[in-house]
Amino acid sequence: MAMVPSTLGMKYMRKRKRRKKKRRRRRKKKKKEEEEEEKEKKKKEKKEKEEKEEKREKKKKKQKKKEEEEGEEEEEGEEEEEEGPPGAPLPRAAPKHEVGGSLIKAGDGATRRHTLQAPEQPPLRSAPTPLPGPTARACPITGDTTSTTVSAGGGRGGAAPGAPVPAAPAPTVNRCRPEHPRLRCASSARPARRSQARDAPSTEPETTVEESLRPEQWHKDFPIAKGERQSPVDIHTQAAVHDPTLKPLSLRYEQATSRRIINNGHSFNVEFDDSQDKAVLEGGPLTGTYRLIQFHFHWGSSDEQGSEHTVDKKKYAAELHLVHWNTKYGEFGKAAQQPDGLAVLGIFLKIGDAKPGLQKVIDVLDCIKAKGKSADFTNFDPRGLLPESLDYWTYPGSLTTPPLLESVTWLVLKEPISVSSEQISKFCTLNFNAEGEPEHLMVNNWRPTQPLKNRQIKASFK
Ligand SMILES: [Zn+2]
Repeated sequence: MAMVPSTLGMKYMRKRKRRKKKRRRRRKKKKKEEEEEEKEKKKKEKKEKEEKEEKREKKKKKQKKKEEEEGEEEEEGEEEEEEGPPGAPLPRAAPKHEVGGSLIKAGDGATRRHTLQAPEQPPLRSAPTPLPGPTARACPITGDTTSTTVSAGGGRGGAAPGAPVPAAPAPTVNRCRPEHPRLRCASSARPARRSQARDAPSTEPETTVEESLRPEQWHKDFPIAKGERQSPVDIHTQAAVHDPTLKPLSLRYEQATSRRIINNGHSFNVEFDDSQDKAVLEGGPLTGTYRLIQFHFHWGSSDEQGSEHTVDKKKYAAELHLVHWNTKYGEFGKAAQQPDGLAVLGIFLKIGDAKPGLQKVIDVLDCIKAKGKSADFTNFDPRGLLPESLDYWTYPGSLTTPPLLESVTWLVLKEPISVSSEQISKFCTLNFNAEGEPEHLMVNNWRPTQPLKNRQIKASFK
């Protein structure tokens, strides 16, 4: 009978053991849960801390930027213009070089105002730090008018009879920020793609840039953007072939008659009277006579970029385009639609000594700061913009802005001209925007290089 109690005892003991075990397991489980909870809590705290830190950092950066901008505005003494919101996008309106005002059939068959050599915003590598700008921004002639009369004067031994009196040049000294000697232009705007702006953990504000207006989107409206002879291109010097049959260029600019300078919202054009053979380009690979209609520039936000063509991938600080049309077509608009209708002389700009022949242009830019502004600009001698040598590369290409017509015989001079940092800085004080709109400094108005495809670049020199 003892079995019974002993059996009972054993049962009891076993039960107790089991309970103990259970309790242990429960305790263990609880402990584990608590530990995990603790871990989770710590993780959360850490994350919050990091986020706070990041926010603080961003705020700091913003504050710093604001302070810098304010400081520079003070330096510039610029009170007449309101600054656009920092970080606002560069406008990317479809470029329209309205030369002569004629209409051109665009690639899609729609009739558009013809556009010429207008740059668009390439992928922006903009300088984030604004540059201390010029000491004076007001137009030296009238202060600030839509149309101004300026004589470039003196270019060919004085102004023509009856020409307006040459204006006293405004103080146009630009200074590059000494600690950022390479940064030339203020560009608070970084027209990143919308998606980039959204995705990137960036402090850049989201842009409102119209994607369809970016160079890489041009093909949607202008399928010819992916055509067989698009410009600009990289000039691979080893691949360029010396052609001994190429004639020297004949530039006859003695009678050139400049008329006006205009900010067209993507560059500025100096326009010439092309109603007669006053300033013409002949020779080289060209057949016939090409009249000068306008010149303009493309430039960057720093000295490391700005040119459209590149030489062995090297970018120059800027590029001058002197645009001519073949007189056999009667007018620019018609010529621009012919494969041999236009001839553009491209000249690279590098930073160095000032180019005296450019200064008259520099001095009038204050008068055409905003898009749509123009000023009379007479007696300007374009010969002052040429280098010594007229050695050139040539290839068949296109306009570098919509409508991107493949009508250009390109003549790119080997020798760059040198301009001073102060001179080129002044370009960047222009605005893409019209008056009254948020300010967007005009920089990086160049198209990236396009595939050479089945073309050969010829050199006039060995
Ligand atoms: Zn151009």
